[in-house]
Amino acid sequence: PSAMREIMIEVPKVLWTDIGGQEETKQKLKEAVEWPLKHPEAFIRFGIRPPKGILLYGPPGCSKTLMAKALATEAGLNFLAVKGPELFSKWVGDSEKAVREVFRKARAASPSIVFFDEIDALAVRRGGEETSVADRVLSQLLAEMDGIEPLVNVTVVAATNRPDIIDSALLRPGRIDRVLYVGPPDEASRLEIFRIGTARMACAADVDPRGLSKMTDGYSGAECVAVCQDAAMAAMEEDVEAEKVHLRHFHKAVRSVTPRITDEMIR
Ligand code: ATP
Repeated sequence: PSAMREIMIEVPKVLWTDIGGQEETKQKLKEAVEWPLKHPEAFIRFGIRPPKGILLYGPPGCSKTLMAKALATEAGLNFLAVKGPELFSKWVGDSEKAVREVFRKARAASPSIVFFDEIDALAVRRGGEETSVADRVLSQLLAEMDGIEPLVNVTVVAATNRPDIIDSALLRPGRIDRVLYVGPPDEASRLEIFRIGTARMACAADVDPRGLSKMTDGYSGAECVAVCQDAAMAAMEEDVEAEKVHLRHFHKAVRSVTPRITDEMIR
């Protein structure tokens, strides 16, 4: 039990408005998680089950984690975050117990969201017989998902960059039964990210979020945020007492941040 102390329960502070763009994904998540909580009678009336789990997949740095946190914040849910590989490495020989413990905590903290980042580390396609630790961990994960009572209000949100290697058993109805692609931000989404990013800093009049969104095709959300930070640093390097960040600093920052999303990462 002491090994599980690292799994913290928190109420995150990410609002939907902190996430630039990605409106369609936000809307789908609200429907899947907020609606069942706010309008349970509608689900009963229509005889449909709210999803137990949602898989967010897509390239790195494109707001999967932010989305999971915003869901919890906006619906007032407790949030437990678990990194797939951590669960493995920290609790060698005890990983199944760790999985059980995560769900026990989530039930105790319900209504809650359990966020499994890098779920692929726990849920690679199985070989057949359950021999390896990996197989047993996945079995435990499946058993826990099957064991969640629909009314207990524990929602699993999992994230991965590699949906192709996830065992299909995890994606069956009653388990992780919604799959949502969270892609790289398009120009409109980048515009929102730069609006949010530049609103927080003192910018000169030549800095225009629209222009920034046009010069960052292919950049992830994280990379757009990095551009804002690098621009501020560039302004400070020039003059630590600079009062404003200018467009030339953003130009420099755009050159210094290399986009890492490759075609294979995009759906
Ligand atoms: P990974 O696959 O690497 O875990 P992820 O998709 O979970 O990545 P996040 O952790 O949500 O990505 O995003 C990383 C950081 O990038 C965020 O903390 C935030 O600063 C920034 N970011 C990404 N997308 C957006 C966005 N749409 N609006 C504002 N900030 C964003």
